[in-house]
Amino acid sequence: MDRLPGARRFVRRFVAGPALDDALEVAARLNADGIDAAVTHLGENVATAADATGAADAYLHVLDEIARRRLRAVPSLKLTHLGLDLSETVCRESLERVAGRGLATRTLVWIDMESSAYTDRTLGLYRRVHTTHSNLACVVQSYLRRTAQDVERLIEIGATVRLCKGAYREPPAIAFPDKRDVDAGYARSLERLLSADALARGVYPAFATHDERLIGRVREQARAGGVAADRYEVQMLYGIRHDLHAPLRAAGLRLRVLIPYGEDWYGYFMRRLAERPANLAFFFRQVVRGSAP
Ligand SMILES: Cc1cc2nc3c(=O)[nH]c(=O)nc-3n(C[C@H](O)[C@H](O)[C@H](O)COP(=O)(O)OP(=O)(O)OC[C@H]3O[C@@H](n4cnc5c(N)ncnc54)[C@H](O)[C@@H]3O)c2cc1C
Repeated sequence: MDRLPGARRFVRRFVAGPALDDALEVAARLNADGIDAAVTHLGENVATAADATGAADAYLHVLDEIARRRLRAVPSLKLTHLGLDLSETVCRESLERVAGRGLATRTLVWIDMESSAYTDRTLGLYRRVHTTHSNLACVVQSYLRRTAQDVERLIEIGATVRLCKGAYREPPAIAFPDKRDVDAGYARSLERLLSADALARGVYPAFATHDERLIGRVREQARAGGVAADRYEVQMLYGIRHDLHAPLRAAGLRLRVLIPYGEDWYGYFMRRLAERPANLAFFFRQVVRGSAP
């Protein structure tokens, strides 16, 4: 697919480029506008230990470059990129290596959440490694039926946690099939994460969404509870709703944009296409135009 010029152009809407430099240049521009960054080296479900070690090495380099360039940025990684499919031990060692470098450079390391096949293992590893690496952050997805309970357990340990809707295809027994339930679950979890009780335990919530209504709910809840602007943040993806950045910053909200880079963009890109049917139509128009002789 990436040999088609139209396709490549469209991928670049969501992916900064093939190299770390591409992502860090975007991060520097965002930082100049008062926006923090998260950087993802694309890759997931690696099949060999060498690939898993390579991914961990790449994230060590990401952390070193963030520190060297003095960027306000954090890495955001997937445990299946660090070898979770191969062995939990290999994955944990890699995670500790990356989180350890993050501790040394005073940088958070965010663990993305993947499909429900990984939820228990991801939260389990998060909890175990978090006891020695307080700079680890995790993610919960409001489309999962289990999430209200996960949020309570994360509040107990004062977690740094990103709340998102969820981007994987899941069966109805596991995830709400109706968008209204997903949004209602998001609203309930955001209330809990911004509650006085959660904040007193040290919870730092990050609300990852481009949904203006839900961002409005976050702001109302924070205002009603007298929550200071530096006790939570809103997160968005590179390439989506950039028009919201300036007004949210002007309103005093902390904002972070997640910037993916790398060659292994297929899974990430397909999730961005799938979550918005209009993207799919636009994508095919670009491909047809871009490949015309
Ligand atoms: C910073 C960040 C980190 C994330 N991390 C994870 C993770 O670890 N695990 C996980 O499962 N999911 C993750 N996601 C994805 C998330 O779960 C949703 O799939 C995604 O954010 C779309 O949902 P929404 O909240 O924006 O709401 P929606 O209701 O889907 O969208 C609201 C509006 O946003 C815009 N929009 C949303 N998606 C697109 C798109 N693809 N293209 C163009 N416009 C769009 C549209 O204007 C839409 O009307 C993350 C999202 C963000 C912002």
